[in-house]
Amino acid sequence: MPICAICGEDSNIVTQCKMCGEEFCPSCGDADDKVCTYCGAEGEDFIDDDED
Ligand SMILES: [Zn+2]
Ligand SMILES: [Zn+2]
Repeated sequence: MPICAICGEDSNIVTQCKMCGEEFCPSCGDADDKVCTYCGAEGEDFIDDDED
């Protein structure tokens, strides 16, 4: 079973990020855009993690 490079969990379905090449599970990126959560966070409002 493939392993998500982002969260390290086993996943039946992984998508390869077009930017960094890592494979991620559906909860760790956008499978349609083929960008993981790390790459998708840059420039897009993917993660709203305001620690202020
Ligand atoms: Zn994951
Ligand atoms: Zn990526």
